[in-house]
Amino acid sequence: MSEKVIIIGSGPSGWTAAIYAARAELKPLVFEGAYTDENRIAGTLPLGQLALTTEVENYPGFPAGNLEAYLDAALPEAKRMEMPPHSRHGVNGPELLELMKQQAINFGTRIVSEDIKCVDFRRRPFHLSASDGNSYEAQSVIVATGARANYLGLPSEEKFKNRGVSGCAVCDGALPRFRNKPLAVIGGGDSAVEEATYLSKFASKVYLVHRRDKLRASKIMAERAAANAKIEILWNRGVDEVLGNEQQGVTGMRLKSTAGEADLELPISGFFLGIGHTPNTAFLQGGLELTDKKYIVWTTPGRTFTSVPGVFAAGDVADDYYRQAVTAAGTGCMAALDAERFLAEHGD
Ligand code: NAP
Repeated sequence: MSEKVIIIGSGPSGWTAAIYAARAELKPLVFEGAYTDENRIAGTLPLGQLALTTEVENYPGFPAGNLEAYLDAALPEAKRMEMPPHSRHGVNGPELLELMKQQAINFGTRIVSEDIKCVDFRRRPFHLSASDGNSYEAQSVIVATGARANYLGLPSEEKFKNRGVSGCAVCDGALPRFRNKPLAVIGGGDSAVEEATYLSKFASKVYLVHRRDKLRASKIMAERAAANAKIEILWNRGVDEVLGNEQQGVTGMRLKSTAGEADLELPISGFFLGIGHTPNTAFLQGGLELTDKKYIVWTTPGRTFTSVPGVFAAGDVADDYYRQAVTAAGTGCMAALDAERFLAEHGD
């Protein structure tokens, strides 16, 4: 049997698409991803990147407050038992995603906890092969598989993730642990400069650590970094180790030189990666047009259309620019509306 719409991905864009598609009576089937070690190590577990962050202070509708009773009322008891106690600081990433997922379920969304391993978009109905070996057919597909922040791959970096190491300054930078403290951003592109500029509002100082002697960032962004009294660019430096301890998390970093200088050890409380993102598009295997950085191309301005009619893209898998939970949710809504209209036009 052919599904009306299959949604691949389970971050804010996937769940928002599911809520809209379910309310439009399209009976969406969501592939939320598989709970495997492979996905854990790659940072691609179900619920996506936002589930890897702590407090989410910039998603509208969740000012600081105690959500405990609300979470108890909105989510199944078994799910609540699995979740850590609520911080009372506002909503956190996993809580927000569980709420979105539950909202999608409440309107009739069905969920499969498997990855989609490959797709055939050459003709409709589209064919999708899942990690459990089963194949599925769909009249329309919404790809919402997101992107993952690139990390350096150091064991010390992994150890302090969420305890001072972050792949997203805008998500985490305003947390109390980073206020009035020295912080570091790694990278020399627009993202790294933007993150350093953003963090400079809260930090006592921001080290921008770049492995070369020239920024990759655009001229205007580079000038902005140079003019910011709180940003110090450390040229020709790579990271040897993130330093820290169990109680405080990150306390410093040791930098090596790429220009023959001595190692440098600096105290910091936050270590932010700005070395780019990798969109989760490998499973498409050429089935959709991608940018040179492997993001899905939105082929029509202001729409979520891809190079294949009937296949839509939402969230960070097609957006290397805004990359926010709320923009992902917004394009998830758009993709569901686009799919609904497409199905209506094609009599499905
Ligand atoms: P990017 O332009 O690819 O820059 C990545 C940076 O990280 C580069 O400086 C690179 O160093 C460094 N890097 C990569 N791997 C590294 C490693 N293993 N160790 C140390 N450094 C490493 O990525 P991006 O900054 O995320 O930007 C992506 C796109 O979004 C760009 O087109 C950018 O213009 C755009 N963007 C625009 C804005 C804006 O206009 N406001 C903001 C953000 C992003 P090298 O320079 O040595 O390669």
